[in-house]
Amino acid sequence: MQIKRLRLSGFKSFVDPADLRIEPGLTGIVGPNGCGKSNLLEALRWAMGENSPKSMRGAGMEDVIFAGTATRPQRDFAEVSILTDEMGDEGEVEIVRRIERGAGSAYRINGRDVRAKDVSLAFADAATGAHSPALVSQGRIGAIISAKPAERRAMLEEAAGIAGLHVRRKDAEQKLRATETNLARLDEVITDQE
Ligand code: ATP
Repeated sequence: MQIKRLRLSGFKSFVDPADLRIEPGLTGIVGPNGCGKSNLLEALRWAMGENSPKSMRGAGMEDVIFAGTATRPQRDFAEVSILTDEMGDEGEVEIVRRIERGAGSAYRINGRDVRAKDVSLAFADAATGAHSPALVSQGRIGAIISAKPAERRAMLEEAAGIAGLHVRRKDAEQKLRATETNLARLDEVITDQE
């Protein structure tokens, strides 16, 4: 999977809609301090389902919405779209996350409303995601070098594209437990009737 385009609107310092085409190969983002380089990486992670406001350098998730300046009023929503060349069995896929003040986040994949979990799973299956070690923000290199074995294993599993299986396994285990409880209840009912 390759990300072909990142589109932002109202996200942090990107108050006006911004379209960034990402060409194959190495991409560098350069600019003076505070111009929004880290905000771009955060926009990618956010659209992939990042749920921790702290890792977005905010106190609450609504802090990603343009907060206004001396000359421009604040925005009521932020939207980030990621366009990929292919994902799983599908061709071009567009993933959109939008947050509105007081209304929380909503996600869409190719125009269809989906859950946050669907987006995380789609990226996990494509061996990436909001917590991917491939997205290296400031201070992360040290953290990767000093990672504990379990954390390193998680990175390797992600690189191998099997990270999504853990989530599915947890789901399956929950369903299994619920079914076992139902069976036990059924047994009790049958015993009562005999
Ligand atoms: P450096 O090179 O110093 O690391 P950078 O290019 O990575 O800087 P960022 O940290 O991405 O820059 O951008 C910081 C800028 O984004 C600051 O000017 C900050 O005021 C602005 N900013 C962050 N959140 C918001 C928001 N919600 N609304 C408006 N502006 C915001």
